[in-house]
Amino acid sequence: MNQPLDLIIIGAGPAGLSAAEVANREGLTYLVIEQGTIADTIRQYPVGRTMFSTPNEVEMNEGTLKPVREKPTREELLSHYIHFVLDHDLRINTGEEVVDVAGNDNDGFIVRTDRDEYRAARVLFAIGAMAKPRRLNVPGEELAKVHHRFVEPYPYVRKDALVVGGGNSAAEAALFLSEEGAQTTMAIWREDWENRDPKAGAMKHWVRNPLEQEIAAGRLRVVLYKQIEEITEHEVTIKTETGESLTITNDVVFVLVGSDADLTLLKKLGVKTEQGKLTEVPVYDTETFETNVRGIYVVGHFTNARHIKPAIDVPRRIVPLIAKALRAGVRR
Ligand SMILES: Cc1cc2nc3c(=O)[nH]c(=O)nc-3n(C[C@H](O)[C@H](O)[C@H](O)COP(=O)(O)OP(=O)(O)OC[C@H]3O[C@@H](n4cnc5c(N)ncnc54)[C@H](O)[C@@H]3O)c2cc1C
Repeated sequence: MNQPLDLIIIGAGPAGLSAAEVANREGLTYLVIEQGTIADTIRQYPVGRTMFSTPNEVEMNEGTLKPVREKPTREELLSHYIHFVLDHDLRINTGEEVVDVAGNDNDGFIVRTDRDEYRAARVLFAIGAMAKPRRLNVPGEELAKVHHRFVEPYPYVRKDALVVGGGNSAAEAALFLSEEGAQTTMAIWREDWENRDPKAGAMKHWVRNPLEQEIAAGRLRVVLYKQIEEITEHEVTIKTETGESLTITNDVVFVLVGSDADLTLLKKLGVKTEQGKLTEVPVYDTETFETNVRGIYVVGHFTNARHIKPAIDVPRRIVPLIAKALRAGVRR
């Protein structure tokens, strides 16, 4: 068994990295456990993607992210987070998945991974909200040509591509595919297509404008749909909003209709959840981000503080409180 730690942080996204740096500064013994790579969610953004956010909303310290243009690309942001880890020599185990957390704040928690077992006085979940991509649940969705993430358009030049979804991720994927020579169809619900309200999740105008140019140039087709009926090896059948059945030739499908966090470990610990603005979220104290299970904390994308800025800022408020309590010997 490893030496007991003060704090285990699950996830090395912006929230987990921010928490680790504060834990380090506070002199806590800590470990970040990450199933993928450093900032894995950002690594899985489309290649070359420009962030929606300005540097001050995503950088770890003011003035340290200096993109070539106004907003950073995926690559610039990823490198920024990696160098944050290297510069602060943060303790992170990558490629290690947490599979169970048990215990309580009096006796400590046992964190089991697919490789090892650790003990910690406190556990902070920074697990993001990308674990479970939403599915259409239609015949053929299990085919190899169907993807629930979009990373790059380059394998699909001159191929027939279908993108399903109404948010920014779907719109960006359709745009990138169309711009790089894929014969692209975007299947979208009318209410999403007609939504122009940024507060109600409408497509960003800097995605929509070039998308409309692709449509006007005849390179991209938009189908207002009710349902995807079936995906087969070479075709997709779509029920349009007027009720007609449309079968189109198809080589690749991207289903980009959102994703949800995996709350299984938290629920097993006894953490309560509730319906948030968009999806199910854990219940937590809005000052301390501690859940109803004492000693278990939540931060980042799967809480109501969803964007990168609060994912970085919240740990800076709460990790010093955890450190203070541990220093005072508060084991409740
Ligand atoms: C395509 C796309 C574009 C986006 N663009 C923007 C944008 O422009 N601006 C913006 O503010 N936000 C944007 N977001 C949202 C942004 O990515 C999140 O707000 C941000 O990643 C949240 O950071 P986080 O640390 O909370 O979660 P994440 O970055 O998702 O990190 C969570 C980490 O936990 C790990 N993990 C999960 N479960 C386990 C486990 N059991 N064991 C070990 N590790 C585990 C995951 O592998 C992951 O690395 C975008 C999201 C997507 C998908």
